[in-house]
Amino acid sequence: MRRDTVEQVGGLAYARGNRAGAAAAYQRLIASYTRPPADTEVGVHRAVLRLAAHHAASGDAEALRALATQVVTAYRAITTIRRVEERATLEDPAVMAGLAAVAELVPAARKVLVPDAPKPKAALKEKAPAPAAQLPPEEQLPEVDEAPDQFAHLELVEGSSSKFWRAVQRGGEVRTTFGRIGTRGQSKLKTFDDSDDADDHVRAMIDEKTGKGYEQIDLSELARRALARPTWTPVLEPGDAEATGSTIGGAPWIEAGAAWPTCDECGRTLGFILQLASADCPVDLGGGLIQLFLCGWCGPEAYALVRVVPKRPSTERAVREAGALAAGSLTPRAPMRITGWDGPEDDVPYGGDEDADRALAADPDLRAAIDAEDAADDLGTTAQGDKLGGWPYWHESVGALPRCPICGARHRLLVQLDFGRSRALPDFVGIAFIGNCAAHPEPLSLTWTT
Ligand SMILES: [Zn+2]
Ligand SMILES: [Zn+2]
Repeated sequence: MRRDTVEQVGGLAYARGNRAGAAAAYQRLIASYTRPPADTEVGVHRAVLRLAAHHAASGDAEALRALATQVVTAYRAITTIRRVEERATLEDPAVMAGLAAVAELVPAARKVLVPDAPKPKAALKEKAPAPAAQLPPEEQLPEVDEAPDQFAHLELVEGSSSKFWRAVQRGGEVRTTFGRIGTRGQSKLKTFDDSDDADDHVRAMIDEKTGKGYEQIDLSELARRALARPTWTPVLEPGDAEATGSTIGGAPWIEAGAAWPTCDECGRTLGFILQLASADCPVDLGGGLIQLFLCGWCGPEAYALVRVVPKRPSTERAVREAGALAAGSLTPRAPMRITGWDGPEDDVPYGGDEDADRALAADPDLRAAIDAEDAADDLGTTAQGDKLGGWPYWHESVGALPRCPICGARHRLLVQLDFGRSRALPDFVGIAFIGNCAAHPEPLSLTWTT
């Protein structure tokens, strides 16, 4: 029987006061969906809500509870209905009774009973872990200094020496800095009558230093050194990882007795995406197992859980719940275990990434020289695809990783998951960045770019 016919049968039974008959029809209708219907499929939502009202009236708390999460989906449908100004459903007392019945069970359903309830997205934002107002104010990046007339950086690495010498000339002033590579060194300021004299002095000094074996390091190399971060790509093999191993898809390690994580928004089980064993990774992930779950029902960007679970010696296999792996719109691929990491390669920042500017701010003269010559523009491209460490590939609009809720520092990129390119991740357009604070490994953050 067609779904709309089933709904009609249920509606008719309902209108005749045959509540059991209506409930049976609605039950069939709901069961005919393998995933929550699209918002526009109003009929099934109406059925869910009427069924909820029926269970509430007959005191079947168990059945009501089972329906509760679907009511939340129905709530979304109702906001759609409201938008298209179809009042019929909202004026149906059984629909409203159904909502009222589950409002106590599912907080999200309560929203519909409040006029002008915040849209789900806005509600999610309220729950963001780090409200900016509570963070220490972010240190403002100073303006880029005036471009130097001359910037020279030389190094001597020979036997036991490892020294640098730098000259920065602006007009008649020359600041030289020198010392062991890796230290700030010491500075001297010399003032000349005019910039020609200053320029001559710097050139003479460069000649003298190169005569002693120093080599000039060009700006793009200095920019690369200041900005490049190591990145690794996963080596994947089809098949299941060991329970506490690194894997994309497959099954996570869930401690015996612990529940499979569920979505805070809709209550359904989350889809498992990634598990990384800190010990197997070439970068310090802060210990334990990093796990990422997404809600395929609410949408990967709407609800995600990224967490660190302690890795304990365990003979227990991971909990495997086939149903949970095929959550909503996230169709998992066959599990791929991560057997190693290729790299490191130098990764360079995406154009306009303010974190790159932040990284340069510690060396204002170098920053000014790089800025004046656009020396950071030809470093290459930010690596796409799945990777560990490196810089976020921002795709269309450059964003920023969140700040640490404890100290306010910007999160660094731990993992980039490029859903559109990966051969292991579920097919979905979007790139996710897992980040954390170097000083505070937890909480992890998840940021999307699409
Ligand atoms: Zn959800
Ligand atoms: Zn921190």
